Amino acid sequence: MQPDAISRPIVRLRPKAEARAIRHGFPWVYSDELVLDRRSKALEPGTLAVLEDSERREMGLVTVNPNSRITARMLDRDPGARIDIGWFKARLSHALALRERLYDQPFYRLVHAEADGLPGVIIDRFGDVAVIQPNAAWAEGLLPALVEALVAVTGVTSVVKNGSGRARALEGLAEETLLLRGGLDGPVRVPMNGALYMADLMGGQKTGLYFDQRDNHAFAARLAGQGRVLDVFSHVGGFALAALAAGASQALAVDGSEPALALAEQGAAAMGVGARFETRQADAFEAMEALGADGARFDLVVCDPPAFAPHRKALEAGLRAYERIAKLAAPLVAPGGYLVLCSCSHAADLAQFRASSTRGIGRGQRQAQLIQTGFAGPDHPMLPQLAESGYLKALTYRLDG
Ligand code: SAH
Repeated sequence: MQPDAISRPIVRLRPKAEARAIRHGFPWVYSDELVLDRRSKALEPGTLAVLEDSERREMGLVTVNPNSRITARMLDRDPGARIDIGWFKARLSHALALRERLYDQPFYRLVHAEADGLPGVIIDRFGDVAVIQPNAAWAEGLLPALVEALVAVTGVTSVVKNGSGRARALEGLAEETLLLRGGLDGPVRVPMNGALYMADLMGGQKTGLYFDQRDNHAFAARLAGQGRVLDVFSHVGGFALAALAAGASQALAVDGSEPALALAEQGAAAMGVGARFETRQADAFEAMEALGADGARFDLVVCDPPAFAPHRKALEAGLRAYERIAKLAAPLVAPGGYLVLCSCSHAADLAQFRASSTRGIGRGQRQAQLIQTGFAGPDHPMLPQLAESGYLKALTYRLDG
C-alpha cells in the first residue's frame, strides 16, 4: 500500500464512459468504464490515484482496486487533496455533527461508508469506545491516521478494529479483530429506547449491536403495548428488550447463538425485567414450527433474520426463505396482533421482499394490513445515487382479528 504521496498514478475513463454521472456525484467507476492498461492493472488495491475523463481533464482523487468490479471510488473531488489526519478530521467532524443532532447519548453509527465520505469504512460508537470496520484496502493502509483523527474528534479512549466483514475478502484483506487503543472490560452497556443492551465489541457479530434497527425497535415496542412478544432472530434482544422497556408483559427471544442470548439475558437483568424475559436457543425455523404446533400466540411477532439474499445469486433462494418465515410466523400472531418482518438483504429490493412476505402471510392463512415500512435509522445515511445502500427493510403488518 502506498503512503499518501502527492505524485499519483492516473486512471482514465474510456471515451464512451458516462463521465456525467460521476461529475454529478455518482461515487463509483466500474471496471468496464476505465482504460485498464497493464500499468493500472498492476496498481495495488487501495492505491490513491487521480481520475481523469477521456479528454484528460482531472475529475478527482480516487482509490483504486483493479481486482474489484467497482474499480475506482471517489475520495475527494479535489484531485490534489492530501489524505492525512486533517482530512480525516474534517470528514469525521461532519459525520459527528449529524449524530450529535440526532441523539443525546453517544451510541450510534458514526460513519456509514460512502454516504459519510469514507468509502468502505464503518465506524460504530459505543460511548468511549469506537469500533472501526475498514472494509476497503485504502482505509486499511491509512488506518493510523484515521484512528488518530477519530480519537481527536470524538474523544473516545478505546478503539477496536473489527476485520470480520464479508467485504474484506473482496479487497484482499485478512480477517482480524483487535484492540488498537485503550482497553475493554467485558461487554459495553448500550442505552437505547429505554432498554439496556450488552454489546460484545470484540467477539460479537457485526460491531456488537444493530444500531440500524433503533427506530424499528421503537415502533414495534409501541405496538406491543402490554402484550406478549416473540422476538425471532433476536441477537442480544433488540426488539424484545425495547418492548419490555415500553411495558410488554412477556418476551421470548429466539436465536441460534448462545452467546447472543446470554448477553440478552444480562441486558434484561440490568434493566430489572429478567422475570418477564425468556430465551430459547434454537434454529428459528424449527422453533417457529414447534411454537405453532403448541398453539402459542403472541401479540407481537418480529422476525429479523440475517441477509438471506446478500448478493444476486442468492436472490431466489433468499426470497423463498423470507416467504417461509412469513408463513411460519403469521399463525403465531394473536387475532388483531402485529407482525414485523425484516430483511437486510442488498439483493432483495423492497418490492420483492414485500411480495414474498405478503405471500407467506397468505399461505399462513392470515389476512393483513400493511401499516408501516421502516428502514435503517438516520445514523445510516444513504448516498442518494446508491440505491444499494438502502439495504434494511422492516414491514409491519396488522393481522386479522
Ligand atoms: N433482531 C436483532 C438483530 C438480528 S441479527 C436486533 O434487532 O438487534 C440476526 C440474528 O439471527 C443473529 O443473532 C444470528 O445469530 C441469528 N441467526 C442466524 N441464523 C439463524 C437461525 N437459522 N436460527 C436462529 N437464529 C439465527
